[in-house]
Amino acid sequence: MVNPVPFDALVIGGGLIGMLTARELHREGLRVAVVERQATGGESTWAGGGILSPLHPWRYPDAVNALATWSQAAYPDLLAALAEESGVDPEYRRNGLLIVDGFDPDEALAWAKRWQRALELVDDRRVRELEPSLGVEVQTAAWLPTVGQVRNPRLGRALRRSLDNLGVTVLEHRPVTGFVLQGERIVGVETAEGEIAAGAVVVASGAWSGTLLDGLGLAVPVAPVRGQMLLFHAEPGVVSRILLDNARYVIPRRDGRVLVGSTMENVGFDKSTTAEALAELRAAAARLVPALAHYPLERHWAGLRPGSPHGIPYISPHPRIEGLFVNAGHFRNGVVMGPASARLLANLVLGHEPILDPSPYRLSGNIDPDQPKPS
Ligand SMILES: Cc1cc2nc3c(=O)[nH]c(=O)nc-3n(C[C@H](O)[C@H](O)[C@H](O)COP(=O)(O)OP(=O)(O)OC[C@H]3O[C@@H](n4cnc5c(N)ncnc54)[C@H](O)[C@@H]3O)c2cc1C
Repeated sequence: MVNPVPFDALVIGGGLIGMLTARELHREGLRVAVVERQATGGESTWAGGGILSPLHPWRYPDAVNALATWSQAAYPDLLAALAEESGVDPEYRRNGLLIVDGFDPDEALAWAKRWQRALELVDDRRVRELEPSLGVEVQTAAWLPTVGQVRNPRLGRALRRSLDNLGVTVLEHRPVTGFVLQGERIVGVETAEGEIAAGAVVVASGAWSGTLLDGLGLAVPVAPVRGQMLLFHAEPGVVSRILLDNARYVIPRRDGRVLVGSTMENVGFDKSTTAEALAELRAAAARLVPALAHYPLERHWAGLRPGSPHGIPYISPHPRIEGLFVNAGHFRNGVVMGPASARLLANLVLGHEPILDPSPYRLSGNIDPDQPKPS
């Protein structure tokens, strides 16, 4: 019998969240398509730092820590599987996170105990052993030895090739312009090249998700927060740990390149870079790792994080439209929360037992207009 609906599930957005979600739904036996307005993996997924931990994890709500914890456990196997499926190495590196700012040590220790995470308070002497290149004086630092990182553009490429090799349909350069409804049920999406029918639709459109969903009469507060980043062409060994000092961090990649980030700017959908951010991030780089001043700046870019209230993503059925789901609003932690978010969303689509309590991520029918703006 010919099936009248070509896809069981259609995912709008080929970023990390959309591609991971598509992979999960495919693994469950569904015929899946990803529809992307540009090329896959080119937005926040490309621009991010790839640290596999929230920056000061004790400052985040449980809802964020729960997704991060699940994903951290899943990442080693997932990355190995992706490398196998795609032939692309996402450069997973577990080189630890050293936090050298004036954090609250009691809060940090309480978090580590509660979430059973390796965290050591270390003095200046130990800090120098861990990171001889550090340029700032430290009294007490937090050392999280198990924190890892991935190289975002490579993770994006690995996911894309994996989808191709698994047989998931990926339609690029195809912006979704609207939804096709029959009464209160979604039956597909509209694009400039016509409608695409699907049994279920997942909005995983990053910072654009709020705008896309606006037309359905429910304001979903997901909005862009710009982050600018620098890349230095350094050499292996110049810096070896991920370093965090207040809002500024340094991420050493395996080949010696070093990322320095990142700003937080509410400037709408504007991805331009600024001279102010360049000067400020350069100064932060030279302060944290003075040796970086001797290496060329290779690139300066900006990306748009999908901001949401308290940084808690929406992983949820739409409260009014049957068959429509949302997986968006991962803000600063989309890489570290991605695998759990994708698995949870697939659980909800399929009606399976959820891996985590879905209630903190649920879209309610009447979002309080006074609730915090994306932050
Ligand atoms: C500077 C910076 C540093 C970061 N560092 C980290 C970090 O260290 N660790 C971490 O965990 N997270 C980090 N993040 C956050 C992380 O990158 C994001 O949370 C994550 O990439 C979000 O993925 P996404 O798939 O939701 O969004 P995106 O990657 O933006 O993907 C959304 C996709 O949807 C597509 N789309 C939009 N509208 C439509 C439409 N109408 N039709 C079809 N397609 C559409 C877009 O083109 C895009 O490809 C960082 C982000 C930035 C910007």
